[in-house]
Amino acid sequence: MATLPLSSSGAPGASLEDELRQAVGAEQVLTRPEDLFVYEADGLTHHTARPRAVVLPRDKTDVVQIVKRCRAHGVPFVPRGAGTGLSGGAIALDDGVIIECARLDRILRIAPEDRFAVVQPGVINADLSKAVAHHGLFYAPDPSSQQACTLGGNVAENSGGPHTLKYGTTTNHVLALEMVLPDGQLVQLGSPTGSAGGYDLVGAVVGSEGTLGIVTELTVRLSPRPERTETMLGIFPDVVSACRAVGAIIRSGLVPAALEIVDRRTIEAVEASVYAAGLPTDAGAVLIIELDGPAVAVGRQVERCQDHCREAGASEVPVARDEAERQRFWRARKGAFGAMGRLAPDLYVHDAVVPRQKLPEILEKICEIGDRYRLRLSNVFHAGDGNLHPNISFDRRDPDEMERVLAAGEEILRTCVEAGGVITGEHGVGTEKKEYMGLLFSEADLDAMRKLRAAFDPDRMCNPGKMFPATRFCAEANPKARGYDQVPFG
Ligand SMILES: Cc1cc2nc3c(=O)[nH]c(=O)nc-3n(C[C@H](O)[C@H](O)[C@H](O)COP(=O)(O)OP(=O)(O)OC[C@H]3O[C@@H](n4cnc5c(N)ncnc54)[C@H](O)[C@@H]3O)c2cc1C
Repeated sequence: MATLPLSSSGAPGASLEDELRQAVGAEQVLTRPEDLFVYEADGLTHHTARPRAVVLPRDKTDVVQIVKRCRAHGVPFVPRGAGTGLSGGAIALDDGVIIECARLDRILRIAPEDRFAVVQPGVINADLSKAVAHHGLFYAPDPSSQQACTLGGNVAENSGGPHTLKYGTTTNHVLALEMVLPDGQLVQLGSPTGSAGGYDLVGAVVGSEGTLGIVTELTVRLSPRPERTETMLGIFPDVVSACRAVGAIIRSGLVPAALEIVDRRTIEAVEASVYAAGLPTDAGAVLIIELDGPAVAVGRQVERCQDHCREAGASEVPVARDEAERQRFWRARKGAFGAMGRLAPDLYVHDAVVPRQKLPEILEKICEIGDRYRLRLSNVFHAGDGNLHPNISFDRRDPDEMERVLAAGEEILRTCVEAGGVITGEHGVGTEKKEYMGLLFSEADLDAMRKLRAAFDPDRMCNPGKMFPATRFCAEANPKARGYDQVPFG
């Protein structure tokens, strides 16, 4: 870990806001209530907390200065990208400062011969693939939010996407990181060659939800574009038979690039929206199957997948006729959460993982839970990974409905864990699921995680109140923590 010390200073008696304005420029510091309002939540709209200020650094030196000034005033700080997170990770609890990295948005280097790119954290996910396309390369992790979310946010959440099944999540594509530690030191972790030696601190930071420091530069792996890509739609009478087809395809040894299920309620919302792609509104579910690889292999694999779908009950399995139709299918899939905005003012996107073989049984149980709580529940999910997204459309202004939404959500999570699953596949723990960490981890497990965190941030100044359940341990072990990990959202 190479360190680059940078100085900190501040006029005695000056307010934090004044010092921040002086350090990075007044126009980079937002404090008016109407400016702060948009930072009160991320994509989990019912967890809100207004930040004390939002600062917009333009480079890593700004980030160091902001961190040092916040520390000097004992004020916690939270890195933020585009705010599309779905677990409350990017909100500032306890009157903290948000450090929004969106202006660190430059692609610094593309190395096609070594297949990596060096980028700033505010680069939008989809823009990287566009920028390297003329080299025959792409950046594989493709969250459905990829037109808006940032690579810094992807690192913090270890984001996945439809193509995670074949290509892996963000952690499989990050080679090196530069970050500002919570004490203001700038460090380099990992190496573009992918073999730095020592502890795998890049691995520790990916998925750490902004609690270990602020990423200011990433070196990411680029992948060669496959020679041939085919995308087809398995049209099924219900979600359960689509899940059976997923099991059969995986069991046969095929590794599709993507296996995504979209249920009837979601199809209806999509087809009534700008994302309409001609999906059959009378189907119980569609299974989007994408295969990619050498041209000679893909054709035969298409036929095998079609056979598996028919055996599981598909009425038809049409293949996209051209690239435009293929893109329409993906626009429909990736726009599904947006399209559901038509159903109700709020959408609670759940995220849990179950073993693939349990998909049919768990899907049935989830639908039953939705019905029992009288909720509008729909499913669109990364079926190949067993990564479920039960989505509940609701209106948070209705306290009774809100209560039922939360109770159903908890029951869904418990059902998934009891089936051998986990509480998040890709959206993180944040404020949303910190109290459910105990469903999976013992106090000793959590202790090991807290110790890792303490090695980076002993005073818990960086994104406090996230990931860890509120326990006596937090406040007692470290009086400087001021009980941040006990502060509720609200
Ligand atoms: C419509 C929709 C579809 C989605 N689909 C997917 C999907 O398919 N797969 C998936 O994985 N997720 C998905 N998400 C969730 C979300 O887009 C991802 O979690 C994404 O990675 C968040 O990126 P962001 O830039 O918006 O980060 P934010 O929401 O701003 O922040 C997320 C976390 O990252 C931390 N962070 C941000 N920048 C930095 C930094 N520079 N250094 C350190 N920490 C930082 C924050 O503190 C926070 O904890 C979806 C969200 C929406 C709204």
